[in-house]
Amino acid sequence: MSERVYDLVIIGSGPGGYIAAVRAAQLGMTVAIVEAGALGGVCLNVGCIPTKALLHSADLLDEVREGKRFGIMVEGLSFDLAGAMKHKDAVVKASTDGVAFLMKKNKVEVVAGWGRLAGRGQVHVQLNAGGERTLAAKQIIVATGARPRPFPGVEFDGQRVLSSTDALKLSAVPKSLLAIGAGAIGVEFASMYRAFGAEVSVVEALPRIVPNEDEEVSAELVKAFQRRGIKTLAGARVESIDVGDEQVVVTLTAADGKQQQLAVAQLLVAIGILPNTEDIGLEAAGVQRNARGFIETDGTMRAADGIYAIGDCVAAVPWLAHKASAEGVLAVEHLAGLHVTPIDYGKIAACTYCSPEIASVGLSEARAREQGYDVKVGKFPFSANGKARVLGQSRFGFVKLVADRRYGELLGMHMIGPRVTELISEGGLALTHEATGESLLQTIHAHPTLYEAIGEAAHALEHGTALNL
Ligand code: NAD
Repeated sequence: MSERVYDLVIIGSGPGGYIAAVRAAQLGMTVAIVEAGALGGVCLNVGCIPTKALLHSADLLDEVREGKRFGIMVEGLSFDLAGAMKHKDAVVKASTDGVAFLMKKNKVEVVAGWGRLAGRGQVHVQLNAGGERTLAAKQIIVATGARPRPFPGVEFDGQRVLSSTDALKLSAVPKSLLAIGAGAIGVEFASMYRAFGAEVSVVEALPRIVPNEDEEVSAELVKAFQRRGIKTLAGARVESIDVGDEQVVVTLTAADGKQQQLAVAQLLVAIGILPNTEDIGLEAAGVQRNARGFIETDGTMRAADGIYAIGDCVAAVPWLAHKASAEGVLAVEHLAGLHVTPIDYGKIAACTYCSPEIASVGLSEARAREQGYDVKVGKFPFSANGKARVLGQSRFGFVKLVADRRYGELLGMHMIGPRVTELISEGGLALTHEATGESLLQTIHAHPTLYEAIGEAAHALEHGTALNL
């Protein structure tokens, strides 16, 4: 019997890999997906999904604490971390079962093991069950993802020094927690464990927390965190980390140049990612990596002849699940010979699920100016939004629109406040369709909603001031 040749073999089953598999099957290809760990990759197992499940418990807890203002009295309120973890585990299981179902429905063969590129059109798999197998493929997609980056010289031990993966399976709420790094992971876990009752601080090397967001968003988050009792230290340099049996002592130089020592029960290191690009046969296959180990691709995700790469293991940013999925679809459609449009990486929405939430798409005000635009800005606070008041969440937050004064095109939408991770869909659509402030104004926003704040910000953008302010 001649060896089976798959149309496509994918290494890695995260939101990049498994979505690529589904799309390829839809296009009539025979597909195998190689996965050494659990189906669904980081996102479903130890990333987006479990974090958001725990953050929902955190938000609910905070809301119940505020119950009195809504006439809801709860006596003897308590929090059970194990219960929250159980909810998280159930959500993860339902999600990963969903991927298994999708693979079956689309007749994608799942091969459990470690995949390596092994010569043209070949993927060698060290099977989890023992033994090995070589898969022959017309095309290959590398979707091996990334892992948490440790602080130089300090290993993750799962006890005192935690990665985000470790922080998702604690058996008790830390007495005190320090997050190094105030990107998405740092602020999400800070927010979560503060709601669960920990003393929390966050240290960021760059001059402001959530440094990829608009400056005003960073400033608003500092205020909101301050009120929640979360200490933030931006522009700080971590000098040393001393891991003891009972505590971790972090010595840092603060923004004012003074040295400080912080002693905490547990440390979360959230300083970015390392790509999973070692030991998968890339060099021999002619796949180029950049200095930090991320795979270089062209605009159609091609990394070498017959090899595509997508998701967190590639150099293109942002490293987000929805970007990985979009790259998966793009790669598959390209290798299938369909007409494709390269991804516009500048128009991918980013959502951070701290409390208050943050969401943005496009250029911040500062970046738009750096790029030479004559910028105009429209802003509207949630304090003047009826629905935010109804929810009891009008204290912090706003919608900020950044547009080009010359042609009116919207360049960016930035939000912090209640449920903005849902509201940002309007921003994504607006930027993709090259909306202007004027065209946004012609969209009549329903009342009472949180997204009315977008219409009000558009009014401020076009007429200098909002209506309900
Ligand atoms: P990140 O790159 O988003 O943030 C890391 C932060 O750590 C940066 O602000 C950086 O300046 C800071 N930093 C680096 N070295 C430092 C040091 N020595 N001292 C102090 N600060 C330091 O990475 P992350 O938060 O670890 O997240 C990893 C990846 O996962 C990112 O790509 C992120 O976008 C993604 N992620 C996304 C979400 C979401 O979309 N909601 C949630 C979690 C993670």
